Amino acid sequence: MLTLTNLNAGYNQIGVLYDINMTVNQGEAVTVIGINGSGKTTLMNTISGLIKQTGGAIDFQGQDISSLSADRRVGLGIVQVPEGRQIFSPLTVLENLYLGMYAKYRHYNAQNKNDLLDYAYNLFPVLHERRAQKAGTLSGGEQQMLAIARSLMSQPKLLLLDEPSLGLAPLVVEKIFTVLKELNQAGLTVLLVEQNAEMALDVAQRGYVMDVGSIVLEGTTAELKGNRRVKEIYLGEAE
Ligand code: ATP
Repeated sequence: MLTLTNLNAGYNQIGVLYDINMTVNQGEAVTVIGINGSGKTTLMNTISGLIKQTGGAIDFQGQDISSLSADRRVGLGIVQVPEGRQIFSPLTVLENLYLGMYAKYRHYNAQNKNDLLDYAYNLFPVLHERRAQKAGTLSGGEQQMLAIARSLMSQPKLLLLDEPSLGLAPLVVEKIFTVLKELNQAGLTVLLVEQNAEMALDVAQRGYVMDVGSIVLEGTTAELKGNRRVKEIYLGEAE
């Protein structure tokens, strides 16, 4: 579904991603793990089109999307849940959800509007309870749920998730990862970047390890969980 070939990107002539080769197959959940500053967000923003690549190619469903704008990529079904949620604080929960729909439909009255809302509220019932509340007054966990629900309103084919566990309590992280697993099991393709390797390797079927802007290891999650370096550095297990 998604193939990155020798992808390079950076900021103001300073390289951050170096020759990234990666695939995400239809229906898979794939994770990229790496420590702070290894380039995970840069990778996500390059795939979604927020950052322009400086080399290499991005192929999505057989089409080279390298030169497409971020909003054209949303139209194709590539939808990002950004790091730090980036919800619209002064707007209500419902208005935030409408904006997710607008990203795809360019208006607020899609025919399947109620189905989309029901789907989001079923996944996260608390959002239904809080639908008239200003999003900025939600807890961190609820804001993350809203960010995910908002992305689903534009019916993604490939969901890009950037550190959904960031700053959240373990129980909330568990709830969010349970929903991500369910979404993937229902057929949604997921690319998840995380510092929380334990949770990420639990949700995904395959993974890549990123270090200083390069992929240094890849494999099934079972292989990665058994790897000595992954155990020591990312899972905090000494042999
Ligand atoms: P974190 O988990 O802390 O978000 P990350 O793995 O997502 O880290 P990036 O945010 O992609 O890593 O950062 C990779 C490198 O790019 C870092 O050295 C960072 O300082 C640099 N960088 C990130 N954003 C910018 C920017 N807007 N301008 C210049 N350099 C940047």
